Amino acid sequence: MRKVLITGSSRGIGREIAKKLKLNGYDVILHGKTKSLNLLNLADELKSEFITFDVGNFEEAKEVLDKFSEPFYGVILNAGIANDATFAALSVDDWNGVINTNLGSFYNVLNPLIMPMARAKQGRIIVISSVSGILGNRGQSNYAASKAGLIGASKSLAIELASRNITVNVIAPGLIKTDMIDENLPLDEIKKMIPMRRFGEASEVSGLVNFLLSDEASYITKQVIGVNGGMI
Ligand code: NDP
Repeated sequence: MRKVLITGSSRGIGREIAKKLKLNGYDVILHGKTKSLNLLNLADELKSEFITFDVGNFEEAKEVLDKFSEPFYGVILNAGIANDATFAALSVDDWNGVINTNLGSFYNVLNPLIMPMARAKQGRIIVISSVSGILGNRGQSNYAASKAGLIGASKSLAIELASRNITVNVIAPGLIKTDMIDENLPLDEIKKMIPMRRFGEASEVSGLVNFLLSDEASYITKQVIGVNGGMI
């Protein structure tokens, strides 16, 4: 059975991805920062293994990931945070925290896993970026930088791994209904900027992940695919 790691699958988009992939017969490895009730309940529901580590910490990630003897078929780099403030008001901790978690996870999670995958000469890496990484967004210079960085890193890795039959693609969601959406924002005003006039569902991202993991997607690599109701 194809083993797929989904970082940040305790909640939100990652959780929907995990459920979809489990339904489609993958050996799903769940992940969260901590052993939260959400994570424990999902592991129980899906009868799946779970792991925990801070994606912003290389040593922690490597220690956990090195314990897997079989290479992963798929890695969905989904865990991420936002900590918004206009640039002038952004503290150095807000800058470093978001960059270290979102962009740092690319190295911290993928570096320990990449050689076994390359030796297996097959695999799929899917990185969850954001529409903010493409368009920029007021109050999100840290978040947008981290998400734009993920695009550059993914495209480079796609080139490096192409000869190994490993595809690397980026999904850039627009606004998706999860804990990440701040309820204090003027949500009705924001919807007016979306041609489809609504936020997306996490299940509208998980379908694309499922497709990119499939054999039908074997010649798709180095792409950035939006799921954004027409925002770009
Ligand atoms: P949620 O806030 O609902 O869930 C975040 C997940 O990431 C949780 O599983 C959380 O684990 C995990 N996580 C956060 N920080 C860390 C960390 N340092 N180490 C390990 N795990 C961590 O987020 P979403 O589902 O909304 O977002 C998922 C991805 O999609 C993110 O990368 C986000 O940037 C991106 N995205 C989301 C959009 C949206 O509108 N929702 C739009 C565009 C992109 P735990 O439960 O243990 O805290």
